[in-house]
Amino acid sequence: NAKLKGKNTYQLYNAEINEQLHRRVNIERELRYAVEKNELSLNYQPKFNLQNNKVIGMEALLRWDNSTLGRVSPIEFIPIAEETGMINSIGLWVIKQAITQMKLWEKQGFTNLKVSVNLSLIQLRHRHFVDSISTTLRQSGIDPALFELEITESMMESVEEILPTLEKIKQLGVGISIDDFGTGFSSLSYLKRLPIDTIKIDRSFIFDLVQDSSDVAIVKSILDIGTNLQLSVVAEGIETEEHLRLLKDLGCPIGQGYYFSPPVPVEKIEELYLK
Ligand code: C2E
Ligand code: MG
Ligand code: MG
Ligand code: MG
Repeated sequence: NAKLKGKNTYQLYNAEINEQLHRRVNIERELRYAVEKNELSLNYQPKFNLQNNKVIGMEALLRWDNSTLGRVSPIEFIPIAEETGMINSIGLWVIKQAITQMKLWEKQGFTNLKVSVNLSLIQLRHRHFVDSISTTLRQSGIDPALFELEITESMMESVEEILPTLEKIKQLGVGISIDDFGTGFSSLSYLKRLPIDTIKIDRSFIFDLVQDSSDVAIVKSILDIGTNLQLSVVAEGIETEEHLRLLKDLGCPIGQGYYFSPPVPVEKIEELYLK
């Protein structure tokens, strides 16, 4: 009996692994043609000045709708795009698309709107990366100061390697922010060495803010770091009115989250915030 049970468990386990592998192979195969098949799009999530509730910018978030797989989350496909190197072409598509959108918004009279895109470490390692951004920005005529790249704290493990690239990006006038701040377990010394403008407090510290006094302490400390190092601070994951009230009281300047809006398609963002 025990033997039989063991065998069943083994087979179940095997089937599960098989299924996971199958999904991964499918994603990899379909992702290869996602750009040319026009399956990628950007959603935008607004960022608000918490003192006056005005939209100050948007974060572009990648969406992928495939004919057989349906919508696949970036949480699932970005790591595969990174492992296969496809992130370089996909990431460039994201940057070009976001800058094209900025140009369109500018033409419609929505000026001074900051737009950020997320970046992978692989992209920073690509030798033509800075040139591509520089060319795209120059051709668009967009003010580079309105464009921002979000990198994550976990990339700081490679700080020596990426520092020269980040400095070149800074020289273009493009903003750099540290996403998911507080989750990277890295030394804080990189904060004074890197040419960054903004830190984004990870939403795991916001979620329980109202109940958990250690989260309040952490958020306060991050806000202090921001003030002392002259960095702007954005709170991610504001989901409730209580989150917002507390963050305002703590003096957090900028916020983003479902309370205001989830990431939405261009038409929707225009209808909601840009009319
Ligand atoms: P992220 O850059 O930290 O983006 C924030 C994620 O949290 C987004 O998920 C967003 O939809 C979600 N979010 C926003 N507000 C709230 C909130 O109030 N509550 C909760 N629970 N979640 C909220 P999404 O769009 O699924 O993206 C997940 C991650 O995928 C992003 O995290 C980013 O790391 C990555 N990603 C998305 N687009 C790109 C891209 O173009 N390039 C790269 N390299 N990574 C991307
Ligand atoms: Mg981000
Ligand atoms: Mg984030
Ligand atoms: Mg995050």
